[in-house]
Amino acid sequence: MKVMVAVKRVVDYNVKIHIKTDGSGVDLSGVKMSLNPFDEIAVEEAVRLKEKGFVSEISVVSIGDRSCQESLRTALALGADKAIHIETSFETQPLGVAKALKELVNRERFHLIILGKQAIDDDYNQTGQMLAALLRWPQGTFVSQLTIVGEEIEVVREVDGGLETLKMPLPAVITTDLRLNVPRYATLPNIMKAKQKPLEVISAEALGIDLRPHLKTLTIVEPSKRKAGIKVADVDELLEKLHKEAKVI
Ligand code: AMP
Repeated sequence: MKVMVAVKRVVDYNVKIHIKTDGSGVDLSGVKMSLNPFDEIAVEEAVRLKEKGFVSEISVVSIGDRSCQESLRTALALGADKAIHIETSFETQPLGVAKALKELVNRERFHLIILGKQAIDDDYNQTGQMLAALLRWPQGTFVSQLTIVGEEIEVVREVDGGLETLKMPLPAVITTDLRLNVPRYATLPNIMKAKQKPLEVISAEALGIDLRPHLKTLTIVEPSKRKAGIKVADVDELLEKLHKEAKVI
């Protein structure tokens, strides 16, 4: 069984981001970038399935400029077998990414595609769903547990009301939630080995896909600052403020 995992390079989750002064986007200069955390979980899950003997080969795919090869090398160090970089200078958006991943499925037979539930930079939470629709494959989103049973896959999904268990035939598209697993760290020997693993670069044009963005960002603003709190002398003053100023009672 062959697995494809989609990985995106995003601003590291520990970084406090700053908005550019013209409000056109996030200032990325000198900012630490990392593998999207949900994609790290996706790679880990594929590696665990391989260790259990269900998977023969793991391909990791990233779409973007040359810098996303860094994320692909990280994914290779975590245990993926080969990497595909779809090169584009456009800022990627879910529909374009889903179309690009679909093209790869037309080139090579994958039985399972694992994506993160969302990229933490744009928070779209759309790519996996769009890919499943384009491929007409079943999808299991927000997955916190995954089991392969013969030609089928059983997944536990984190939904508002609790946990939902679904079974679906393979091939399928899965998106990972936080509690699916705890990813391993890449060891130094594996980081070294990853440099020798195959990394294929394909231009978006050669793949025949149009990655031009369909959405235009009009403006980005920082969340409004919280006002400092105040101390009240007693309960009467608190009630008065809740009544007159906050108007909640
Ligand atoms: P999104 O729909 O943008 O929140 O992204 C959901 C998931 O789609 C991510 O966690 C990745 O697995 C995948 N994805 C999104 N953008 C890219 C990209 N440029 N390259 C590779 N995978 C991506």
